[in-house]
This record gives sequence, structure tokens and C-alpha cells, in this order.
Amino acid sequence: MEIIDGKTLAKNIRENLKSEVEELKSKGINPKFAVILVGNDKASLTYVKSKNKACQELGIEYEEIILEGNTTMQELLEIIESLNERTEISGILLQSPIPKHLDINEAFRKISPSKDVDGFNPYNVGKLCLNQDTFVSCTPYGIMKIFDAYNIPIEGKNAVVIGRSNIVGKPMALSLLNKNATVTICHSKTEDLKEITQKADIIIAAIGKKHFVTKEMVKEGAVIIDVGINRTDEGIFGDVDFEGVKEKASYITPVPGGVGPMTVAMLMTNIVKAAKQSNQK
Ligand code: NAD
Repeated sequence: MEIIDGKTLAKNIRENLKSEVEELKSKGINPKFAVILVGNDKASLTYVKSKNKACQELGIEYEEIILEGNTTMQELLEIIESLNERTEISGILLQSPIPKHLDINEAFRKISPSKDVDGFNPYNVGKLCLNQDTFVSCTPYGIMKIFDAYNIPIEGKNAVVIGRSNIVGKPMALSLLNKNATVTICHSKTEDLKEITQKADIIIAAIGKKHFVTKEMVKEGAVIIDVGINRTDEGIFGDVDFEGVKEKASYITPVPGGVGPMTVAMLMTNIVKAAKQSNQK
């Protein structure tokens, strides 16, 4: 069994990106990232802070647009439009969640596909579906990097994704399908989940329930990727019962230190890619 070290892998990716950013700057290409935050959701503030820090470390310019919780849809769309038009901005991210009176899907649609570094614009999701080069949602993208870095085979494997969210489950399933896995997507209405997971060579757990995946659900030698971040008074826990499952797994990601650090590293990767592509136009 090998424990996947997402922290070190993400650090290496960021170091490589730092050199790449330096090189781009010497050619007059300045990656710049804009984040829109609406309201003052506590978790969002923490996420935004870590994105800012990563940008600083890499030499990527960073701009934060903080909007009042009572911002109207029209105002939000106008701000996105102005960021779309500003040529020095390489990537735009709208931090979710946004207040309930706003339509997040309409906002995501407004972000120019060429600046959509989170990969949430339906145009980019469609390209992922068609297996075309695009911006892929950062968490599934980071997981695919893990497979790559650890030389974990995907083709022909039975991959089970638990969770069907637009940001993790669905793009994850599509990414694995694009690499020729046989993919099953499970969700809250799935019957006999254990029977399905017991046949999986690869399990991706993206549920949001502490220690949901237990050793009884896992086949000997399976690859276990734990996306879950469940904050409790005792600390942060994954969706996988790590201690029980690790004895059966061939590879397993810990929480924290597995998938989490990869998400920010892939966001930075997407920003640099957007900057390079906008320069090629
Ligand atoms: P979500 O709440 O949008 O989706 C959860 C999914 O789990 C749903 O599709 C639901 O059908 C499924 N589910 C719920 N109960 C189930 C059950 N009993 N059996 C089978 N499926 C069930 O969550 P999300 O945004 O996809 O996030 C999932 C988890 O991953 C959360 O803990 C979140 O914090 C974490 N997350 C981590 C990162 C990271 O960078 N590591 C990024 C995004 C999300």
C-alpha cells in the first residue's frame, strides 16, 4: 500500500509553475487572476486567502473583487463582463457559494470560456464531455495528475465515482471515461452501493460524509481517492475511513494532504495556461 503524497506533488507543480511564470514574464506575458467574492461566507474567505497566497508565491498578479451580499444579478454580470473585456486579466473565478438571490449558473455562463480557469462554463464542460482540450474543474484535474504522477493505470479499469456534483463527481467521471475507464457514477439514490464499490478497481469518494467508505465496501488492491473535506471539532476528516481502508488499498490519499493541495495547484496551472493561450491569439 502506498499513501499518496498530494502535498509534495502539489509543491513540485507550484515550483515548476513559478519558473514558467518567470519565463513568461521575461517574454512580456503577465498572468493575472481575478477572484470575485459575493458576501462574507467564512469558508469562502479562507479559500480565497489560500488562492491569493498561491498566486503571490508564483508571481501571478492577483485582484480580488469583494461585493456586498445584496449585490444584484445585473451588477454581478456587469462586473464579470468588465473582467472579460480587460485583456490583462488571464483568469476569472467566481467563488461559490454566492447568495441565494443570485443565479450562479447564469454567472458561470457569463465568464468568458477562455478565462474560465475553474472550468464551470457549460462550453468548457461540453468540451470535457467531447474529450477536447479545455479547462477542467480543478479537483478532478488534480486527481488525474495524481494518477499520472504515480503511474496508476486507468484504461480498462472499473472506476466508481461516489458523488455527482458539477464541480467534482461529474467532471471526475468524464475525465476517467476520457482515459478509457469503465465508469459508474453513484449518488444518494443509488441502490446496493456496497455491491458496486466492491467491484471497483478505483474509488473516488466525493460525498461530504465523514468516513462513509469503509473497508467492507472496498476490494483488495483498489485505488482509493478521498475528496471529502469534513470539518468537525476533532479536526478535518475525509469521506473514507482511512485507517480501516488503507490495509486493503494499493494506493490511498490521506485527508488532509491528499487531493486538497492539488486543487489549488491545478487552479494555478489553469491560470498560466489561460495566460499563454490569450497571448497566442
Ligand atoms: P455535493 O454536496 O455537491 O455532492 C455530494 C454528492 O454525494 C451528491 O452527488 C450526492 O448524491 C452524493 N451522496 C450523498 N449521500 C450519499 C450516499 N449516502 N450515497 C451515495 N452518494 C451520496 O458535494 P461536492 O461539492 O461534490 O463535495 C464533496 C466533498 O468533497 C465535500 O466534503 C467537499 O468539501 C469536498 N471537496 C473537496 C475539494 C478538495 O479540493 N479536496 C474540492 C471540492 C469539494
